Amino acid sequence: HGHNNLNRINGVGESSRSKNFRSNSSTDLQLQEQRKQLPIAKGRDALVAEIGKHDVTVLLGETGSGKTTQVPQYLLENGVAGKGMIAVTQPRRVAATSLADRVSKEQGASVGDIVGYSVRFDEKYTSGTRIKYMTDGMIVRELMSDPLLSKYSVVIVDEAHERTLRTDLLIANLKTIQKKRNSTLDPKGKGNADKMNPLKVIIMSATLDAEKFSKFFHNAKIIYVKGRQHPVTIYHSSESQVDYVDAAMRTFFQVHVDQPPGDVLIFLPGEYEPHFIRVPELKNALGQEDIESLEKSITFFAKRLPADKMDVLILPMYASQSAHKNTKVFESAPSNTRKCILATNVAETSITIPGVKYVIDTGKCKEKQYLARDSGGGFDTLLTRDITKSSAMQRAGRAGREGKGVCFRLYTEQAFESMKRTAEPEILRCSLTSSILQLKCIGQNMEELDLMDKPDIDAIYSALKTLWLLGAIDKEQKLTSTGRRMASFPTEPHLSRSILASSEHNCTKEILTIVSILSSSSKLFLDISDQREAASDSRRKFRHPSGDHMTILNTFRSYEEVSKSESKSQRKEWCKKHFINEKCLIEGKKIREQLIDVCKKVGLDPNSSCGENEDPVIKSLGYGLVGNSAFLQPDGSYKQTMGHSIVKIHPGSCMVNEKVPAIIYDELVYTNQIYARGVSAIPRSFFLKHAALSQRQA
Ligand code: ADP
Ligand code: MG
Repeated sequence: HGHNNLNRINGVGESSRSKNFRSNSSTDLQLQEQRKQLPIAKGRDALVAEIGKHDVTVLLGETGSGKTTQVPQYLLENGVAGKGMIAVTQPRRVAATSLADRVSKEQGASVGDIVGYSVRFDEKYTSGTRIKYMTDGMIVRELMSDPLLSKYSVVIVDEAHERTLRTDLLIANLKTIQKKRNSTLDPKGKGNADKMNPLKVIIMSATLDAEKFSKFFHNAKIIYVKGRQHPVTIYHSSESQVDYVDAAMRTFFQVHVDQPPGDVLIFLPGEYEPHFIRVPELKNALGQEDIESLEKSITFFAKRLPADKMDVLILPMYASQSAHKNTKVFESAPSNTRKCILATNVAETSITIPGVKYVIDTGKCKEKQYLARDSGGGFDTLLTRDITKSSAMQRAGRAGREGKGVCFRLYTEQAFESMKRTAEPEILRCSLTSSILQLKCIGQNMEELDLMDKPDIDAIYSALKTLWLLGAIDKEQKLTSTGRRMASFPTEPHLSRSILASSEHNCTKEILTIVSILSSSSKLFLDISDQREAASDSRRKFRHPSGDHMTILNTFRSYEEVSKSESKSQRKEWCKKHFINEKCLIEGKKIREQLIDVCKKVGLDPNSSCGENEDPVIKSLGYGLVGNSAFLQPDGSYKQTMGHSIVKIHPGSCMVNEKVPAIIYDELVYTNQIYARGVSAIPRSFFLKHAALSQRQA
């Protein structure tokens, strides 16, 4: 019974809960019943006791057993958390928001109340919040303002096996924080000792590789939670599939036409975390296009099925769509309907979707990979990769949660055999620039941290060089005041630098718009190669002679004009007509609001504006993009100023046919050639001044 559980909670949060407490409707009872049925519920008391006894616990368990949703509630309900908050970290924002939603419901409260969330560019919690689902990136960011994470009495590092860069940084910090907070008797601390509440750390992982975590924390206790796993029959394809989207579509219809009821979960490559990523591919950089094109083709053919077949309900799951849309995935399908969920690896372990009996696994994922530049510096790219064996096994397991299941692998058995066992930790293959900047703000040097795996010294060097170019650190590698201010912004360091520069050039309003669009998880302009001409014609009126950045600004302004007078559907139509991706604009507007708040906090006027004059805007961008610049050569090509590569202007850029003395660009795209994308013209003299400037700073 719901009340019993809730009444056992002691302490803070009581009032906020009762305020939102709904009557005991049948859904509430059903939820409480479901909670009790979860595999983890049986061992609840023993589990809570173990966690109570140890500073660090490593909790292993099969996906779907109830670790992520239940453990925080148990700790709260049993008073283990004391007065502090419980943080539960996730590598992906979509997991953080949907888990907060679910656990709020289980607590009979609305999201942001007793259970809240915090992800980049979006958060919902109050002072009464006791359980906070958050991305690992957000908690690392909190270290800057609260180095001992004193708000929290428990930090649960979930999905630790994914070994994201930020999870690794968090784990390293938790170890030292614990040393400080848990060394109980501190006679010298003037009354500090009782303020310092001890910190509990729980590492949760879906795979069996737990020893490494345990060893790292001085042989911490490992607890294993058994799940419910039914047998899954696995089929491999007899030959390798070149077009996995098409293969997934065909396999789906084979299942749909031949197999008994049961929902289908399709794993596609994709990673929707716009965490400081620059994307090198022409299309489909975030995998969103894969999902969209599969959605379209399944919809198209589903309409043409004979009337006696079940209906198909397609449900994509990704971060940039609304939380509300994402929760639809968890609702059971209407009668005579088969759900078809199109997901990225968020559904691999972070999220369990009920009703799934069939899994279709493309065998692909998107993986961050650092591309070093010969000149030092470099950037992250997202590459489509084969998954690991451990991922393949997790994906197949998703079919056997509620009963016997089937998994169709769109790759051969040999391909499975040749997969790597587990993924390499991100810290060994990602750009370290923004992390090193954040660490500098809390007085840490990455090379001195007690990390589970230490990054390559060259990767650290290259990040330091980038930070130096941006003026974030000086020649002695000490953080500058510019660097400290840059770190207040949740954007990529080079974009943060441009925002700071904009305040000196009185164009913060304009820069914030451009930066917001560039920080969005999708692209503003739809770039369909065989419709490039039509697209460029229809967008001519937004075009600005200085290049793509001002063109983005013009487009955003026109959209805002249209939004004032037109209806939602007319807005949509307008976007379609101009080959504009409205999702990017909607997300961009949200990001813009957040950046305005940060500006106010750090004392920048978000409304300073240069009107129609593009010069200050380009200069401000130049401060951030100094490493992304190239000069025109006599033969008409462009050569990087900070490297030796020859770059061409990308055909999707409005500058493609222009020859200007110098350019800055957002990113490089590698195909058979190196293309610069997101290009603006900049006076050559800017770089001479800039060089002088950074000398002075140094
Ligand atoms: P674990 O972390 O061990 O993988 P979870 O705590 O995430 O397990 O999930 C436990 C169960 O809760 C899942 O099997 C699923 O049935 C249910 N669940 C989780 N989130 C939702 C949701 N948003 N809607 C409906 N059911 C959910
Ligand atoms: Mg989990």
